[in-house]
Amino acid sequence: MMRVNEAETKRLLEAVKPAKLVAATKYIDEKEVEKLEECGVMIYGENKVQDFLKKYEDYHGKGVWHFIGTLQTNKVKYIIDKVQMIHSVANYRLIDEIEKQAAKHDLVMDILLQVNIAKEESKHGFNEEEMNEVMDYLKDKPHLNPRGLMMMAPNIEVEETRQYFKATKDLLTKLQESYPNYQLTELSMGMTHDFPIAVAEGSTMVRLGHALFDE
Ligand SMILES: *Cc1c(COP(=O)(O)O)cnc(C)c1O
Repeated sequence: MMRVNEAETKRLLEAVKPAKLVAATKYIDEKEVEKLEECGVMIYGENKVQDFLKKYEDYHGKGVWHFIGTLQTNKVKYIIDKVQMIHSVANYRLIDEIEKQAAKHDLVMDILLQVNIAKEESKHGFNEEEMNEVMDYLKDKPHLNPRGLMMMAPNIEVEETRQYFKATKDLLTKLQESYPNYQLTELSMGMTHDFPIAVAEGSTMVRLGHALFDE
């Protein structure tokens, strides 16, 4: 497990502005989550449902949890009333299940649609061309509130990632024009190695792990 680098975390909280900092908690335990809060980080993004449940239970601070990892349909029920946002909505079955579970709890879940902007075989997410269809599909899903897009840049030379951040921002702008009734304001993009470019290209939420921690 890693430890929070407090000076670096405080610096990054300011450096990523105007984007919000979502700390990727998969590398740390719940004690360190409390340290993140002391540094002013109030959004924690977890990847694995099992790990999330443990940390959620043990954490008693004021921060909120987002789910950022690959989410299996059969696990939605465990997190639905505990997370504030799901970043990684990547297929129709997941949409159906989140709608069903949110309805059961009489809540409306903020979601981001994950877009596979570089069309990588290895990545989850909808294709850009599919996005209007997905947005239309959400029209009769009253327990889902789409708030924007999430993406992961390909693992390539960092400056080469800029085109994909730009393309995601352009896609969001188009969706805002086509679907003005939604508050599509969020772009979850940028990780440790590429966040400065993501922020420059309009990211509103960077998901940082390694940048905040020491071995
Ligand atoms: C782990 C993880 C991050 C953070 O990765 P770093 O490279 O350590 O900053 C961001 N997003 C997702 C979905 C992750 O799983």
